[in-house]
Amino acid sequence: MVKRIAILTDHADPLAPIGGIEAGGENVYVLELTRSLAKLGWVIDVFTRWSSPKTTRTARISPTVRVVRLKAGPIDHIPRDQLFSYMPEYVESFFQFLKETRLDYLLVHGNYYFSGWAGLQIASRLGVPFINTFHTLGAIRHLALGDRDKSPKERISIETEVLQNAYAIIATSPPMKEDMIIHYKAPAKKIIVIPGGVNLNRFTPTPQLLARRVLHLDPNIFLILYVGRIERRKGIDTLLSGVNELVMRFPHLRKKIRLIISGGAHPSKWGKIPDGPEKEELYRLEGIVDQLRIKDVVRFIGAVNREYLQYYYSSADVTVVPSYYEPFGLVPLESMACGTLVIASDVGGMKWTIKEGKTGLLFPTKDPVSLADKIQYVLEHPEIRKKMRENGIERVHRFFSWDAISKQMSQCYEDMLIEFYYKKAMNGKKQSDLPQ
Ligand code: UDP
Repeated sequence: MVKRIAILTDHADPLAPIGGIEAGGENVYVLELTRSLAKLGWVIDVFTRWSSPKTTRTARISPTVRVVRLKAGPIDHIPRDQLFSYMPEYVESFFQFLKETRLDYLLVHGNYYFSGWAGLQIASRLGVPFINTFHTLGAIRHLALGDRDKSPKERISIETEVLQNAYAIIATSPPMKEDMIIHYKAPAKKIIVIPGGVNLNRFTPTPQLLARRVLHLDPNIFLILYVGRIERRKGIDTLLSGVNELVMRFPHLRKKIRLIISGGAHPSKWGKIPDGPEKEELYRLEGIVDQLRIKDVVRFIGAVNREYLQYYYSSADVTVVPSYYEPFGLVPLESMACGTLVIASDVGGMKWTIKEGKTGLLFPTKDPVSLADKIQYVLEHPEIRKKMRENGIERVHRFFSWDAISKQMSQCYEDMLIEFYYKKAMNGKKQSDLPQ
C-alpha cells in the first residue's frame, strides 16, 4: 500500500497564480511542502475548492501529488471570509470523490480554520488522525486590527474547536504556539512547531546590477521593495507613511528613492479587479499615495510571477515587511535567501525568523517614523547590508529549506500515525493487559 494522505486547503489552490487575488503564503506552503513530501515517499491529494471555470477538476503538481478541486458553491472566486457556508458542500464533495475513486487515506492534514473544520468532519468519518496547520490566528488578528477586522464572527469559535479536537496541531513559529496556548487555551503537548520554508533552487542571490538589468530597473536608485498580498493586516499604509517621512527628510534624494509594491491584482494584468476586500484595500492605498503626494516615488506593479520574484529581491536595497500581524512570513526568508536585507515589524513569527541586527532589522509595528529611521540607517550605511547578507543566507539555508522542513513534517506524520494506530490496536487495553 502507498502512503497516501489528504491535504485540505479550501481557499488556497496551490496552482493558482501566487500573489494575485487572495493567493499568497498558504498556496506556496502547500505547493512546496507537498512537492518535498513526495520526495520522501508520500502520495498526496490536495483538496481545494473549485474556484475558477478556467481550471480542471484535477491537476498534477508532480507524478505523486495531485490537486483535486471540489465543488462547493459557484465555480468562481468567493472572498475567503465568505466561504464557511459552503464548507458542508466541500465535505460532501470530498466523499463523492472518494465514492468514485475508492481511495484510502492514512491521515488528513488541514490548513487554516475552514479546512480545519472540514478536516475534523472528514477525518472522523474516515477514522483516521487529523492534523491542522494554522497560518493565522483570528484572536491575534483581531487584536492587531480592532474594528477593521472583517473576519467572520464564528472564526474564533471554529479555531478553538479545531485546536481542541485535532489530533495534532502545527504552529509555524514559537510565538504562534504561545498565542495558541495563551489565547485559546490549546493543549501545549499536541502543538508541534514546524516552520514554512524557502525554495532554495529558486531564491538565490543575483548580483544587483544584473538583476536590475533583467527587470529594466534604474541601476542608480535606492530601491525599497514590498512583496505580498494587498491586505489591511499587511500594514502597507505604514510603509507608505514611512517612505513619505524619508523623502521629507531627504528632499534632494526624492528622485533616487523608489518604492515598488508587488502583489495583488493590477488593472493592467487582470482587467477588472473583482470586488472584495483586496480591491477596497488597493483603492484605499492609492488614496493615501495621492494624499501624501508620493505618486512619483511609489509604483504598484501587481502580482509578480515567481520566475521573476528573485530578481526583484536581488534588485532591492531593502525589503520591508510592515505587517500589523505576521504569524510566520515567507517573504522575509525569500528576501534573505536572495541576500537582501529585510526590515520588518517586530510581530509574530518575524521576531523569530529575523535576528535583529544580525540577519535583519525590526521596528515597532504601525510606527512609520521608526521605519523611516531604519531605512535611513541602511541608506547611510551601505556596509550594513553587506554584513547582514551572509548571516541571512546562512540562517535560511540552515533552518528553512523545504527539504529540512518536509523531513520534520514527514517525521511528525509517522509519529502521529504510529501513536494513533497503536492506541487503536490497544483498544483501551492497558500495557499490562498485553501478552508479555
Ligand atoms: N508572492 C508572489 N508574488 C507576488 C507577491 C507575493 O509570488 O507578487 C508570494 C511570496 O513570494 C510569498 C507569498 O506570496 O511566497 C506570501 O507569503 P507570506 O507568508 O509572506 O504572506 P501570506 O500571504 O501568507 O500572508
